[in-house]
Amino acid sequence: MASALSDKLSRLVKQMRGQARITEENVQEMLREVRMALLEADVALPVVRDFIARVKEKALGKEVVGSLNPGQALVGIVHRELVSTMGEGVADINLAAQPPAVILMAGLQGAGKTTTTAKLAKHLIEKRKKKVLTVSGDVYRPAAIEQLKTVTKQAGAEWFPSTPDQKPVDIARAAVDHARRQYFDVLLVDTAGRLAIDEAMMREIKELHAALKPVETLFVVDAMQGQDAVNTAKAFREALPLTGIVLTKLDGDSRGGAALSVRQITGAPIKFAGVSEKIDGLEVFDADRHAGRILG
Ligand code: GDP
Repeated sequence: MASALSDKLSRLVKQMRGQARITEENVQEMLREVRMALLEADVALPVVRDFIARVKEKALGKEVVGSLNPGQALVGIVHRELVSTMGEGVADINLAAQPPAVILMAGLQGAGKTTTTAKLAKHLIEKRKKKVLTVSGDVYRPAAIEQLKTVTKQAGAEWFPSTPDQKPVDIARAAVDHARRQYFDVLLVDTAGRLAIDEAMMREIKELHAALKPVETLFVVDAMQGQDAVNTAKAFREALPLTGIVLTKLDGDSRGGAALSVRQITGAPIKFAGVSEKIDGLEVFDADRHAGRILG
C-alpha cells in the first residue's frame, strides 16, 4: 500500500525513533499529514474534519501505538475508513419496478449528464440485456436534445423526441406512455442543468421526480469540481431523494476527493465512475481502488 501518504508518514516516524513508544502526540502529528493528504486530494474541509475524528479514535488504539510500523498501520486504518465511507461492494442500478423502470438524471450543466445517460443506456443494454429508451427534458437548450439523440444512437438505444416548446413534465409523461406501449424495460430521463444551483432548476426537477416516481435518481457530479462538489451535492440532496451518484471525469488528473465528500453529504452510494468522453467510458465504482487514488 505504498502511497505519497505512507512515504510521508514513514519519514515522520523515523524522526520519532529513539522514543520508547509512540505517544498520543505523535499520533496527532501523523493525523496532520493525513489531513493534508485529504485536502490535497480536494476532499471538502468539513468532510475531512469528520473523517479525521473517526480515524483518530481508531488510531489511538494499540494497532498504531503498539505497532512496529506505526506509519503503515495508520495508512491501513485510513484506507479502510475511506473504503467503508465510500461504500464497499458493488451498487448496480436498481430496476425493480413495473416497466418501464424510470431513471432520473440530475446534476449541474456540464457535469456529464447527457454523456452518462448514453453510457448508462449502453451498460443496461449490454450487461443487463434491457430495452432502453432515452428522453431529454432540457427544453432550454435545443442542442442538448440533439446531443442526446446522437449519443443514444451510438449507445444502440432508442430516443424519444422532445421540443423546446413543451413542458418537461409533459415530455416525461409522454415518454413513459410510449415506453409502456412499446415494452421498454428502462426509460432514462436526462434533465436540464444550470451552471450553478438555481431555484427554478430545482423546482423543475422536483416536479419531474414527483410525476415520474423514478426507481433511481442519480446525481451526476464532475470529480474535477473538488471542494465545490459539496455545495452542489447538498442542494440536490435537499431537493431530491437521491439513490445513487455517478462521478464523472475521473480520467482527469484530480485525485478524486469529491467522491468522499459527495458520498458523505448525500449518503447515496457511488454507483459508477465516468472515465472518458467515449460512450464506453463508464465503470462500476471501485471504492478500494479509489481510496488508493485519494491517498496519492
Ligand atoms: P451535461 O451538461 O451535464 O449534460 O454534460 P455533458 O454530458 O454534455 O458533458 C459535458 C462535457 O464533459 C462533454 O464535453 C463531455 O464529453 C464531457 N464528459 C462527460 N463525462 C466525461 C468523462 O467521464 N470523462 C471526460 N474526460 N469527459 C467527460
